[in-house]
Amino acid sequence: MSIENTAVIEQDRKHVWHHLNQHSVLKSQDPMVMVKGEGSRVWDAKGNSYLDASSGGVWCVNVGYGRSSIAEAVSKQLTELNFFASTAGTVPAAEFAEKLLAKMPGMSRVYYASSGSEANEKAFKIVRQIAHLKYGGKKHKILYRERDYHGSTIAALSATGQEERRKQYGPFAPGFVEFPHCCEYRSQFGDVSDYGVRAAKELEKVILQEGPDTVGAVILEPITAGGGVITPPEGYWPTIMEICKKYDVLLHIDEVVCGLGRTGEWFGYQHYGIKPDIVTLAKGVASSYAAISCTVTTEEVFNEFMADSSDREAYFRDISTFAGCTAGPAAALENLRILEQEELVHNSKMMGDYLLEGLIGLQAKHPIIGDVRGKGLLLGIELVSDQDAKTPVDESVAVKVAGMCMAKGLIIGRTNRSFASLNNTLCLCPVLTLSKQEADFIVTTIDEVLAQLEAS
Ligand code: PMP
Repeated sequence: MSIENTAVIEQDRKHVWHHLNQHSVLKSQDPMVMVKGEGSRVWDAKGNSYLDASSGGVWCVNVGYGRSSIAEAVSKQLTELNFFASTAGTVPAAEFAEKLLAKMPGMSRVYYASSGSEANEKAFKIVRQIAHLKYGGKKHKILYRERDYHGSTIAALSATGQEERRKQYGPFAPGFVEFPHCCEYRSQFGDVSDYGVRAAKELEKVILQEGPDTVGAVILEPITAGGGVITPPEGYWPTIMEICKKYDVLLHIDEVVCGLGRTGEWFGYQHYGIKPDIVTLAKGVASSYAAISCTVTTEEVFNEFMADSSDREAYFRDISTFAGCTAGPAAALENLRILEQEELVHNSKMMGDYLLEGLIGLQAKHPIIGDVRGKGLLLGIELVSDQDAKTPVDESVAVKVAGMCMAKGLIIGRTNRSFASLNNTLCLCPVLTLSKQEADFIVTTIDEVLAQLEAS
């Protein structure tokens, strides 16, 4: 290890507060400090190299590391104009909005910000303001689903269905109401043939309990990501859409993880023929080469804010300074060009199918694997101590598996935190350029680790 890298580990240990970490662990072990990325690989400050099946730890470096063409596009834009407040437009913001919307038929306006949480906050404010403009403030409630995650800010957490993330942060914002998840593997209705329809009808129950005239919107991930990779069962989405229509409830799809090719379609909602009113995007928009998020709406939603000039109330009174940074849309434009030119959405689908097949093969060999599921390159392996009873393993086991994979040069998740919010599901989210050889390495490594674990 070079002297500089030893120094950087000490600087980090002394001064940096890592996210989602229990820092007491770092008293007895060195913090992980990353120094380089290339393609699907990353290197830490100690010189260890890893195949990163987590796309940057939080599933966002979709086109892979070390893309010099994105760096060049950003550099060119920053030299031309680095910033102007998003009260005005900029060239890359206008160009990217047009290109993005071309991939989202039915959607019509892009509102920029810098993170997924913020994009969701903007959507909540849009819903609340429409409630005031149209319904005397009444239709203000936002329903969210158990096990979905929508961000780290207090309002986004208020709409998050994961106890582990919410614990110790209450009281939460009022007007957010939970309804049950739709994980068929963890069926709440026994073994029924119309599981998807039944699960969706839970939404209707809550709307009726709360009063349809008080419910403005429902927020859902198209495929629950962080809550344990939950693919919706058959019949789920058509029923959700019917319910939203029936009660005049806006449908907000959180595509922060799924958006821009992660699941083998441009957007997760496009697998299911969903017609959203609001879509939020973040991680894959610029593959995290710059901080950019989007709250995308239909023209109908946008038009709620188009009062005639005498009405001073009906404008969206919201701004975020960094929404005006041009690095974001400049990076996003080049990211989109790469996705198209290299056909990475297609690769996500093909390699996702290939990887899923490999993981299903492992399930037959390893009784610790209860379920394998997902779409494209968003895949989950749910670990259990008893396959028949579906008893979840103790969370320390999942952390241990991730740690053992890392020791073999594979990153599949964080090794220094609780997996409780993932419900003991290991999540695989490799870069969208993944090759067969890399997919084989992922499967072989997990196979070896589980065999080792079982033997011990
Ligand atoms: N929505 C979903 C579905 C997410 O997974 C995340 C982040 N993991 C967010 C929102 C929040 O995004 P950010 O961390 O950029 O605020």
